[in-house]
Amino acid sequence: ALSDRLSRIVKEMRGQARITESNVSDMLREVRMALLEADVALPVVRDFIARVKEKALGADVVGSLTPGQALVGIVNRELAATMGGAGPEGSAARPVVDLNLAAQPPAVILMAGLQGAGKTTTTAKLARHLIEKRKKKVLTVSGDVYRPAAIEQLKTVTAQAGAEWFPSTPEQKPADIARAALDHARRHHFDVLLVDTAGRLAIDEALMREIRELHAVLNPVETLFVVDAMQGQDAINTAKAFKEALPLTGIVLTKLDGDSRGGAALSVRAITGAPIKFAGVSEKIDGLEVFDAERHAQRVLGMGDIVALVEQVTAGVDMASAQKLAAKVKSGEGFDLNDFLDQLRQMKQMGGLSNLLDKLPAQMAAKAGEADLSRAEKDIRRKEGIICSMTLAERRKPEIIKATRKRRIAAGAGVHVQEVNRLLKEFEQMQGMMKKMKGGGLMKMMKRMGG
Ligand code: GDP
Ligand code: MG
Repeated sequence: ALSDRLSRIVKEMRGQARITESNVSDMLREVRMALLEADVALPVVRDFIARVKEKALGADVVGSLTPGQALVGIVNRELAATMGGAGPEGSAARPVVDLNLAAQPPAVILMAGLQGAGKTTTTAKLARHLIEKRKKKVLTVSGDVYRPAAIEQLKTVTAQAGAEWFPSTPEQKPADIARAALDHARRHHFDVLLVDTAGRLAIDEALMREIRELHAVLNPVETLFVVDAMQGQDAINTAKAFKEALPLTGIVLTKLDGDSRGGAALSVRAITGAPIKFAGVSEKIDGLEVFDAERHAQRVLGMGDIVALVEQVTAGVDMASAQKLAAKVKSGEGFDLNDFLDQLRQMKQMGGLSNLLDKLPAQMAAKAGEADLSRAEKDIRRKEGIICSMTLAERRKPEIIKATRKRRIAAGAGVHVQEVNRLLKEFEQMQGMMKKMKGGGLMKMMKRMGG
């Protein structure tokens, strides 16, 4: 699987301090595969890889990360920036939080996309969103004159959303429906008019002409391209056709609750230059979320939230002490109980083990669950207590801790002597491990704790 592969490159790169021309190409080959497996369109992948390479070359690898982990971090940030960028200029990743309604009311929102993409469903979801979150008075209308059932469908879901629905019939021309609805919305002081449209199963000149005409009549403030996240490589062609036909202002990515990795997001974003504003996450009326580029980047990479973990390691760990530790281990000075204590504390600092558990891919989390992480968390606190009951000399030279000292330490920490023994044994194992891996300890230690 993909995450296995990424994990493998992450491991392979251990022990190198920088991302270089020679180690980056293997890693990028894997990232490329990862993106293709997520169904990102090929030209988009090529472009993306070139950009990442430029960013990654020569990047320093901080803390206990390997170059592989660092690269995953860079890839993730770049993915998020690409999908979350505010405009076609691809400027900084300014999140686009909501619909633009800056227009003389009614603000018109035009829905475009292939049949089955989720336009009608999304129209109702947006109506509800606008009513609940932005306190707007919302009218919907269907321009789908080819399927009477589609008009009925919009009527039903609009009622669920608590919005008003403007009737239309298959005998009318879509442009006439649009004019009538616009007129009605104006006279009855609606803030927003949502216009659902017909889709075809494939791109079709007549359909494109029709929606262009609708656009001209309505002059919408938002023209949203609704696209099914499960659409794979083909998303790029659909996106191209709609972009050529219409000045798109935003994208809604539907069916993200499915098991696709959602690479279409990247393709569609790249081709249209329009921001992804919302994600559909269920068939239900409340199944709409503001698109979260960072979270989605992790999904595209297929790494669960392992990327977040990498970020957390860079952010949450006390860099100075991690580096001191690494230097110590490298210089052969040895790993003592103070360092062990540091590590325990760093693990706590990262938000606790149970928090960590949430971030692991399901498979790993299930394994870790067996180890009972809340117990492990308590365990860390007890260990901390034990080490804190030791003198500095004992921490530096654990070998001097014989029976009498053990009894004193146990009494001080309020534990049994056996627990002191267990801690010392675990420390020895950790010391052995630290020697082997020269400072890349944290990640490995976390894996160990995960069972
Ligand atoms: P339209 O032809 O573009 O209007 O598409 P519809 O709105 O009729 O949706 C087509 C199908 O996809 C329907 O069965 C919807 O319930 C379903 N659907 C739409 N959005 C989502 C979503 O975000 N998640 C899931 N699971 N299903 C969705
Ligand atoms: Mg429809």
